[in-house]
Amino acid sequence: MSDTESHLASYSDPLVIGKQSFKPGKKGVVDLTVGSQLDYQPVDMCVHVRRGRKPGPTLLLTAGIHGDELTGVEILRRLLKSRRLQSLRGSLLVIPVVCMPAFLNRSRYLPDRRDLNRLFPGSTEGSLGGRLASTFIDEVVNQSDYAIDYHAGATGRPNLPQIRVTGSEADSMALAKAFKPPVIIETALREGSLRYQFGRLGIPSLLYEAGEAGRLDSASIRYGLRGTFNVLEHLEMLPPPRRKSEPKSKTVVATGTQWLRAPQGGLFSNNVDLGQAVGPDTKLGVVGDPLGRRETPLTTETDGVVIGFNRLATVDEGDALFHIATTNNPEKAEAHIQRSEEIMEEHTAPLH
Ligand SMILES: [Zn+2]
Repeated sequence: MSDTESHLASYSDPLVIGKQSFKPGKKGVVDLTVGSQLDYQPVDMCVHVRRGRKPGPTLLLTAGIHGDELTGVEILRRLLKSRRLQSLRGSLLVIPVVCMPAFLNRSRYLPDRRDLNRLFPGSTEGSLGGRLASTFIDEVVNQSDYAIDYHAGATGRPNLPQIRVTGSEADSMALAKAFKPPVIIETALREGSLRYQFGRLGIPSLLYEAGEAGRLDSASIRYGLRGTFNVLEHLEMLPPPRRKSEPKSKTVVATGTQWLRAPQGGLFSNNVDLGQAVGPDTKLGVVGDPLGRRETPLTTETDGVVIGFNRLATVDEGDALFHIATTNNPEKAEAHIQRSEEIMEEHTAPLH
């Protein structure tokens, strides 16, 4: 906790982002200019700054690194409205849309087809995405003690709400468990990603994955919002809630995942749900010849739970159909996931 301690010592210092400075107890919004586009207008990154009166760490919350992944944008929009933030200790930096050019194009990618999440740490002399990444790291990331980055599956490929974390980082794993998602998946870091950059800078971080691009769904938003509050309480940035405490549910921790791909092209019909236990005896679905001649049953050698699948019915050979988190006791994992859904249904207000 040495980072936090050093932060505590200097908490009375103003936190400066762009040209704006925020003393303890202040809040505001900074439109950070990160480049310009073909209309000659600046590309801005909107940063919400909330500083509690009392000292504590700085937590960075980011969504919209991929412009079509909206789950996190909505989670952060709702978080910013919450009255609970009035009792915040420490500082929150909230960026609902990191990559505005991609968001405006309703696309995962930057206008030059680059993926911002492969461009970190970026460069002031690089592409638009590289410059955006560089300003974001200099102005925001370098002032953060902890971080959560929110993502969603691709269009037509929903994800079970899950936290991805680097297993070797003990502080990140503690945050992941505090979030209490249905599933935690230990994944390797990909060079150029924001999470890789957090790792290099020694900032414990989580990646929340839920739902699919272009859509909002209630469960993904509720898990994400509840998990974010759980982390704020874990970091003692918020007091524990006054409501009676939730029954304990165990989070499933998976050390590996596997994509099951279409053995041939055709019509894909799916028999399983997100969170369901599967194994060699499970009939996952079929890929059928649309002209009625043949069909291929889909099976898996792996024991695990379904954490993502393809909702699109037309597939080519090799298309990713099922994302399975490997566990040696899938039935138990399925029961834990169901329990965690029941607890969320009972203990968090519906959003719609
Ligand atoms: Zn993403």
